[in-house]
Amino acid sequence: METVMTNCKDCRTHLPDLLLDDAYTTAHPEFKEHLAACAACRTELAELRSTFALLDEWKAPEISPYFDVRLKVRLREAVAAPPEGLWERTRSFFLFSTGRQLRPALACALAFVLLIGGGGTFANFYHAANSMPPVADSATVNDLKIMDNNVQAEQQLNQLLDDSTPSANDGAAVPTT
Ligand SMILES: [Zn+2]
Repeated sequence: METVMTNCKDCRTHLPDLLLDDAYTTAHPEFKEHLAACAACRTELAELRSTFALLDEWKAPEISPYFDVRLKVRLREAVAAPPEGLWERTRSFFLFSTGRQLRPALACALAFVLLIGGGGTFANFYHAANSMPPVADSATVNDLKIMDNNVQAEQQLNQLLDDSTPSANDGAAVPTT
């Protein structure tokens, strides 16, 4: 009888098959053998199973009904905002651009700054780049937030009412056809 003893590497490669296809071990009994013999692979499979079970239970939270409106308002505000000054633009360029082609030059400049001015100059620059002012919500966004809270409160109230009067007006509300 020729049974190739499966090793751990093979087994780990086929863990998704073993996890998702219940009939897989029937077609490939060598994995069943290996799992029976190897505690490490058995644990790995069990852990994967429990993770998947957890993911099945998980429900994505419902997004706020005002999400789109609020996003559009913010975008419109950003477009309508006055253009940033030179310093602001330079700062966001260094903060957010990948700036691949600039990196060697920047590294040289920083090394130079460190050589000449010691750590203090760099520390000041670094501090300035990291202390961005917080973005304040506009009146519109605040209004939308309040409306959102109101809707949530109303939903909770309705739920409470539904729970306390389970079928108060059944019968009466059913249309006759
Ligand atoms: Zn193994």
